[in-house]
Amino acid sequence: MQWQETLARQATWTRENSPHLRLSSSEAVDLYTNAPLHTLMQAAHHRRMVMHPTGYVTYLVDRNINYTNVCTINCQFCSFYRPPNHAETYTQTFEQISQRITELEAIGGTRILMQGGVNPELPFSWYTDLIRLLRKMHPSIDLDCFSPIEIEGIAEVSGKSTLDVLILLKDAGMHGLPGGGAEMLVDNVRKDVSPKKGSPANWLRVMQEAQSIGLTTSATNVFGFGETLSDRVEHMSKIRELQDHSLSHYGKAFTSFIAWPVQLEVNTFGKRNRGGSCYRASKRNGK
Ligand code: SF4
Repeated sequence: MQWQETLARQATWTRENSPHLRLSSSEAVDLYTNAPLHTLMQAAHHRRMVMHPTGYVTYLVDRNINYTNVCTINCQFCSFYRPPNHAETYTQTFEQISQRITELEAIGGTRILMQGGVNPELPFSWYTDLIRLLRKMHPSIDLDCFSPIEIEGIAEVSGKSTLDVLILLKDAGMHGLPGGGAEMLVDNVRKDVSPKKGSPANWLRVMQEAQSIGLTTSATNVFGFGETLSDRVEHMSKIRELQDHSLSHYGKAFTSFIAWPVQLEVNTFGKRNRGGSCYRASKRNGK
């Protein structure tokens, strides 16, 4: 009966008493495991209406631009990348990228999310020149570019710290970072599916650095790798910890959280075909 008590407590939530009603990890796992989906949806809707009683909803029109598919990280779930020198690699020219933004402007868009592979062939000046040009040619478009793993790759190629890379990209006119590359911020899951991607702590550190200098950031979550429900809650807990820290220290933190299932297609992970079966096994075992 634990989950009913948890939801009853949460139903009393207000902004004033919210510090006393933080969900613990064990409560979250219990809700995830035992509460019926529609009951959870009702609770979520109730919370939303308490937080935003007008029901006012906003949206924006943006465009994803994948400027290069060259990548050295080899994540097993990725169907997009090609290793350097592969016959199917591409890197878009500045003109091609600008043209895509012109098409976005034509339909009233206001932001791009530009992400690609970790491409060791591009010097640091390629990134700063690109951002400066886009800022000049498309002054009304927000430029959210380069996820934390790309920032790490740029830092490695340029010999700069990730913080310095972020500062220089911001100086060039970049507004923020997309939230890509978080996937599952749990060490053993990450080591299994993307061992070269760097630790969860790195993703969180780069995001914290971005937030500390006022860049816009968003958080993501990919699930279905065979992780346990506790792993999923650990991921959300790490995002929440950084959110708390950055709001209290910088007054700025993640502006959105987006989750989606891993795509078991023509990638190494799909061939292993472990996602669904492992998740079901872990649920059966009560994890
Ligand atoms: S870092 Fe990104 S582009 Fe590279 S393999 Fe991983 S998911 Fe694909």
